[in-house]
Amino acid sequence: MNKISKLAVLTSGGDAPGMNPCIRSVVRTAIYNNLNVVGIRRGYQGLIEDDMFDMHARSVSNILNLGGTILKTARCLPFRTDEGMEIAYQNLKKQGVDALVVIGGDGTFTGALRFSKKYPDIAVMGVPGTIDNDLYGSTYTLGFDTATNTVIEAIDKIRDTADAHDRLFFIEVMGRDSGAIALRAGISCGAEAILLPEKATAIDDLIKNLKTGENNKKSSSIVIVAEGDKNGGAYDIAQKVQKEVKFYDVKVTILGHLQRGGSPSAFDRILGSRLGYAAVNALIKGESQMMVGLEANHIKLTTLEEALNQHEFKLEEDLMEMAEILSI
Ligand code: ATP
Repeated sequence: MNKISKLAVLTSGGDAPGMNPCIRSVVRTAIYNNLNVVGIRRGYQGLIEDDMFDMHARSVSNILNLGGTILKTARCLPFRTDEGMEIAYQNLKKQGVDALVVIGGDGTFTGALRFSKKYPDIAVMGVPGTIDNDLYGSTYTLGFDTATNTVIEAIDKIRDTADAHDRLFFIEVMGRDSGAIALRAGISCGAEAILLPEKATAIDDLIKNLKTGENNKKSSSIVIVAEGDKNGGAYDIAQKVQKEVKFYDVKVTILGHLQRGGSPSAFDRILGSRLGYAAVNALIKGESQMMVGLEANHIKLTTLEEALNQHEFKLEEDLMEMAEILSI
């Protein structure tokens, strides 16, 4: 027997490709299980503004291939206050909602956990949706695979022109606290150096590395800089290096928001479908204050408490070492 009868779903924080397949999966799994479903627009902002609408199986037709999120997303300051949470709670009660699926990153989960502790009669389930791949409890988060593929496609094109002109390119990719995209893209594109927030890189060492590349007859060099690297952004680093590196013409590209867009990859469509399905089934079983994730290709539930407490940025030393060796 279902312990819940009406479920709400929202997307919050940064958008990520794969959110739409996940919304589709949540809606259809709920309907299959005779639950009513409402969609909430613009994350916690819509929850506070009572911007909700009934969803049906056809509400999510033909969205598997769409980037972004049909529910829209927002960063919502009022939800951080007790007053904002109370309004959100009253709006959910008015709608008869007794379970909430939140798709987002660690900020979204922090809000969901606080909310659920205050109002335990509304069950909450988190789905990791962020291109940063930085959540404990899931090897992959929604959007990371698509974003990495988008970055790789862009860098491949830059490599063509870099090679034609004997240029050194600094390419800045997203990742304020997480070097996950930078590292995967660096391995995939054969970057000569990868600068990550998790590891301090001395500019002198970088210059030495680039000079070695030049001595080894490299006709172009690519340095990938995650936006959170401690040396500053790609422009700052390029300026420091340019003074010392005379043999290359130095250029900078900031990939920016194109990394968030685009049709979700097969991986993100399947991940979104699996996580959405698992989230609803866990709520039906009576679970709450959990996050659904994928570990070793199996669905795993982690408490939101643990997911947030264990949330720290670890350098994947083995991948970094391999990337350095393979780029000689
Ligand atoms: P991304 O990883 O893509 O940035 P995120 O979920 O971490 O996604 P945030 O902007 O940090 O994105 O958080 C999303 C929303 O969660 C915030 O706009 C806010 O409404 C809510 N939130 C974040 N922290 C808290 C908190 N301490 N208390 C209540 N709500 C919070």
